[in-house]
Amino acid sequence: MLILVKIKGKLTDKIINSFKDTGFSLISRLTNLDIIIGEIEEQNLARMNSLDFIHTYELDEVYEIQAVNITMMPNLKPGSLLKHEFFGANVKVAVIDTGVNAYNLKLEGNHVFTDALDASDAGTNGRLHGTYVAHIIKKIAPWCKLYSLKVANSQGEILKSAILQAIDWCVGNDISVVNISLGKRGDCKPTCLVCNSLSRIKERKGIAVVAMGNFGREGEGILSCPASSQYALTVGAVNQYRQLADYSSKGRPDSNKPDILAPGWIQMTGDKEIEGTSFAAPFISAVIACLASNYCIDYISNLLITTATDLKIPVHHQGSGLINIENMLGVIRDEKNTGTNS
Ligand SMILES: [Zn+2]
Repeated sequence: MLILVKIKGKLTDKIINSFKDTGFSLISRLTNLDIIIGEIEEQNLARMNSLDFIHTYELDEVYEIQAVNITMMPNLKPGSLLKHEFFGANVKVAVIDTGVNAYNLKLEGNHVFTDALDASDAGTNGRLHGTYVAHIIKKIAPWCKLYSLKVANSQGEILKSAILQAIDWCVGNDISVVNISLGKRGDCKPTCLVCNSLSRIKERKGIAVVAMGNFGREGEGILSCPASSQYALTVGAVNQYRQLADYSSKGRPDSNKPDILAPGWIQMTGDKEIEGTSFAAPFISAVIACLASNYCIDYISNLLITTATDLKIPVHHQGSGLINIENMLGVIRDEKNTGTNS
């Protein structure tokens, strides 16, 4: 079976060699996350686990896209950030998703699209999820450098091991904004590999933007991974009436999630639409990307949180509230006038 092993401290060749006697066969080493992926027979697990430098290990699992409704390409209009010349020029943004079809993006004008790993959406059962996510980002932040990290395999299945490999790549390549519109329903242990790996993005001055999940219709407190990560900026969704979308997952009073809300309903050409926290997350990723060519990520994420509109609903439903770009621009303008911005 496939297992993912987190090492205490730094992953070295010496450590990898000492796995050999336990029947573990190495498939991949994620040096930026200090995680190794490999095959092991179940009867050898105890022997492997007795190695004293093992922090934790997990079995591979399936994750899902966080969309409730996908029919067609969204018809997004570029927002007010462009008018203020925040284009996100050369800011590195990664989409960890089902792959992105650059041709399907059909974007006008000049834009940079950079492939990484297996980037196309071929072989993902026609699911254009990653392409929609990329489209939203490119519409709002047209000059960002977009990287597609395809984590869906040829059966369209998304495995935790693939997500960890993608996060490792993002850390190693100093990606500023990592969009993760994927999740796995359920509570995470404090040692969760995916949730904790997002700390490495933060350490490199980047940010992971994660969709909250679409379990809101089932009541409160249905969390998902890695939306519940303390290192993620977790995004819930509002509907077309700027109210909390009924599908957007609600946290528990003690969960500190979501962090913020953004539009999860995107109007498209004709009478079609797409919906889900999957599409709220890239809205936030794109806004961060726009500003990240001028400001540091910490400043931007703080600005997002402090300027959001309170929808007068519980904090564990809305976080700090609905993103408010006009408020953000207002604060930036005021700080410019008084010379206090970073
Ligand atoms: Zn987790």
